[in-house]
Amino acid sequence: MTDTYLNLVNSGPLKKVAKAIGLPRPVPLRRYEPGAPMVPGPVLVLGASAGADGLASTLLAWNLDVRRHLRPKEKAGAVVVVLDDIASPGDLSATFLELGGVLRQLLPGGRVITVSRTAEAQVEPAVTAARQGIAGALRSVAKELRGGATANGVVLGETVDVDAVSVRAALRFLLSGRSAYVNGQFISVRTSGGSEPQSWDTPLAGRTAVVTGAARGIGAEIVRVLARDGARVIAVDVPAAGEQLTRVVNGVGGTALHADVTAPDAGELILNHAATRYGSLDIVVHNAGITRDKLLANMDAGRWNSVLAVNLESQLRINEALLASPDFSADGRIVSLASTSGIAGNRGQTNYAASKAGVIGMVRSTAAALQDSGRTINAVAPGFIETEMTARMPFATREVARRLSSLQQGGLPVDVAETVAFLATGAAAGISGQTLRVCGQNLVGA
Ligand code: NAD
Repeated sequence: MTDTYLNLVNSGPLKKVAKAIGLPRPVPLRRYEPGAPMVPGPVLVLGASAGADGLASTLLAWNLDVRRHLRPKEKAGAVVVVLDDIASPGDLSATFLELGGVLRQLLPGGRVITVSRTAEAQVEPAVTAARQGIAGALRSVAKELRGGATANGVVLGETVDVDAVSVRAALRFLLSGRSAYVNGQFISVRTSGGSEPQSWDTPLAGRTAVVTGAARGIGAEIVRVLARDGARVIAVDVPAAGEQLTRVVNGVGGTALHADVTAPDAGELILNHAATRYGSLDIVVHNAGITRDKLLANMDAGRWNSVLAVNLESQLRINEALLASPDFSADGRIVSLASTSGIAGNRGQTNYAASKAGVIGMVRSTAAALQDSGRTINAVAPGFIETEMTARMPFATREVARRLSSLQQGGLPVDVAETVAFLATGAAAGISGQTLRVCGQNLVGA
């Protein structure tokens, strides 16, 4: 799917006109390419805590060009703002004003990343206020940035160290092009567990993954990215999608499983296929999903029930089978596809939004049950993604929807796939129960 407007405002005469009359000027995003530098320039670390010093050492060990100050006019590829020990709102001003002073020096495709502590813990009101204040400030920075730059945060649990494995994994993800369409979001690291992969180029090496709804769109891209990252992939789709599914698996050397996720024994089929072919199952991505849009006043039982059955009830049933099975790894990862419609609601989508909000609830509750295990479950909520589905939208609606995010463009299936792949790594062990939006900071409100 091509965004013609994006191409036009980045070349030729419209480039100048767009600037002069203040039209949106989306730019091509910095996306991950194996072998390319993690960040497009020096990384400035702000903050005066021991955590800031520790984090600067971590970044140095990754061979990044780390600075504690920038010279005037010197450009930065990223600014990491460490605020892990703030005690009151007054502690915010020095660091945020320092950040403001260098924002104009951020390169296109640059990153602003805050590292702070959870505002959910039972701590003093002034501490919670200051911690929560970071969310408002950071999300506003994300709306002020241009040139494809993004701002996101990593939030540490009360006892999690700045140097924890999942904090480092989240930082790598957010600094790199893998997070191109993640903007204005916070990744919470609740525990210190997890292990670093032998190679960050293939963090899923040796893992077996299942992706449902894999014959096309976002699912097919998830298959490709998981395989690129080293996983052996089993691609699941309905029998009618046979040929397309074969093309997808042939592209990555995976195997196909023709199954309807709503079948009562879908979980057992998946477990058996993985155990027989590969001897284990480590990652399950619940991507299969359908829409049957109608205003609620015109909704019928068929539309309502089929959407709930595919998008939510199948996941609950498959998870039950997975979590009861010794064939699903002790450090297994489940990633579910939600949607921003499940967060904000959407006209004509009561059934779909119920199913996707249900996924968010399911993930939260299942994560609580998995708390003391090595398994995790998370959701990814895409916003406007350029797929066959969104290509069918009426022209004007599609154009408006594309520009309604801070990045002023739709995301690509690969953006969703990169986020799924990150949550599926062993290093993301400390991240569970969350819904991470991949929406370019879409402006849809709750
Ligand atoms: P798509 O319609 O292009 O692909 C969905 C795939 O799921 C198809 O191959 C289909 O055959 C398969 N599928 C449907 N029912 C199935 C069943 N019962 N059993 C097995 N497979 C089944 O959709 P997409 O746009 O790639 O979306 C993928 C996921 O992302 C969905 O869960 C969707 O709700 C979610 N999502 C998409 C967007 C977007 O902008 N495209 C936005 C938010 C969320």
